[in-house]
Amino acid sequence: MDRRTDQLHIFFLPMMAPGHMIPLVDIARQFARRGAKATIITTPLNASKFSKAIQRDRELGSDISIRTTEFPCKEAGLPDGCENIASTTSTEMYLKFIMSLSLFQQPFEQFLEEDHPDCLVAAPQFSWAVDVAAKLGIPRLFFNGTGFFPLCAIHSLMEHKPHLKIESDTEEFIIPGLPDTIKMSRQQLPDHLKYETESIITEIVRNIMRAEMTSYGAIVNSFYELEPNYVTHRELEGRKAWHVGPVSLYNKDNEDKAQRGHGISYCEHQCLDWLNTKEPKSVIYICFGSMSVFSSAQLLEIAMALEASDQQFIWAVTQDTTNEEQTWMPERFEEKLKGRGLIIKGWAPQVLILDHEAIGGFVTHCGWNSLLEGVTAGVPMVTWPLSAEQFFNEKLPTEILKIGVPVGAQAWSYKTDSTVPINRENIQRAITKLMVGQEADEMRSRAAALGNLAKMAVEKGGSSDNSLGSLLEELRKRKSSSN
Ligand code: UDP
Repeated sequence: MDRRTDQLHIFFLPMMAPGHMIPLVDIARQFARRGAKATIITTPLNASKFSKAIQRDRELGSDISIRTTEFPCKEAGLPDGCENIASTTSTEMYLKFIMSLSLFQQPFEQFLEEDHPDCLVAAPQFSWAVDVAAKLGIPRLFFNGTGFFPLCAIHSLMEHKPHLKIESDTEEFIIPGLPDTIKMSRQQLPDHLKYETESIITEIVRNIMRAEMTSYGAIVNSFYELEPNYVTHRELEGRKAWHVGPVSLYNKDNEDKAQRGHGISYCEHQCLDWLNTKEPKSVIYICFGSMSVFSSAQLLEIAMALEASDQQFIWAVTQDTTNEEQTWMPERFEEKLKGRGLIIKGWAPQVLILDHEAIGGFVTHCGWNSLLEGVTAGVPMVTWPLSAEQFFNEKLPTEILKIGVPVGAQAWSYKTDSTVPINRENIQRAITKLMVGQEADEMRSRAAALGNLAKMAVEKGGSSDNSLGSLLEELRKRKSSSN
């Protein structure tokens, strides 16, 4: 049989944000390893973050490539080089960024018409892609970077609106219809969900929801054994979804792990050399994802808690760039804690660090990727949600899986619109509970068991491997019946 005519061709259109781009590039690479032709569409600056990995895959025989189109910074009213949501520094810039996604429609449509792929996997923020794909008769799957539990919880909230039936922002409500009793408060919801007053954001969210509802189905970075009741719940809602994760496990060697999301290896050897001197499960890794920026006051509280906690740590610090570094760091902090703590200023090779046997706990903002990467590494976590859907995500490790200790974050806030800092006593208390005592041991063994299930899921015959296989099979059948 002619491989060229039989081969599936899939377009991937990731949202330009690390938390979306990193897993979707992993997924595209895995599709190509399983015989499909994969084309990733993005802008030049974003492409530079993963072009080396794609080149390596091509040399190993994968049929994968990148097509770029310029980011219309000027038309969007954004500064040059602002091609990724992580580069936006205010809600206003964020909105301009999201609005500018419509400017991609024309070049993207041209790519689709030229190549006529068999399937399009796109972030729901490109809501116009549904219509474009439908016009050309191409099935569109959506990938929004999150898991089954948050998808179900958000869906229930939007349908039943329990948060609009309570008196105050701090009063708790139950999310109706879920397999577990999950309570939240209105202050933990994103602004656009809180009161449902009409705004540009509610309009954007409506378009995103429409794009989700009218898609052929979803690709989810999760695995069945992590959230079986929610995989089933989603099926019962009549929504097609394929779980193909944890996708971080598609990065097998240290080069892939170290470069993931950044394009170049950054402090890989410094981290590994340092971790190699430590006992197994003795180090806490602290990182709040790719978007969060803390105030100096909050950084100081974390530093003081770490100093007082007596624990060894690696801390990836991102700070408000308007603040000078030394304004928050306690006097002689790095010098005093040399050997006990390693501070990484900027991007950390997260998966490489988490996978090291010396890591025994993770302080995380509960971004879905980080959460899953922590689960995959088999480590318990201190949960510190900040924004996006992170307050939903937090419930999975703390209340359902029982591998998480909440730091006590109560209110949603975006970037530097920060609320009152979490104080050092609360941070220290959570860290100690994570690392010391019987409860810590029990959480650690539950986390280790989940870590093993995660690894089995992507192995041959595992739940995610099978799910990816059945998606490919379905797409191949569609292709052959339309030929
Ligand atoms: N990440 C990383 N190094 C960093 C910060 C983030 O490798 O210093 C990666 C992390 O491994 C994850 C992604 O960036 O894959 C962040 O996604 P997540 O959903 O956790 O959070 P977001 O950045 O979207 O808030």
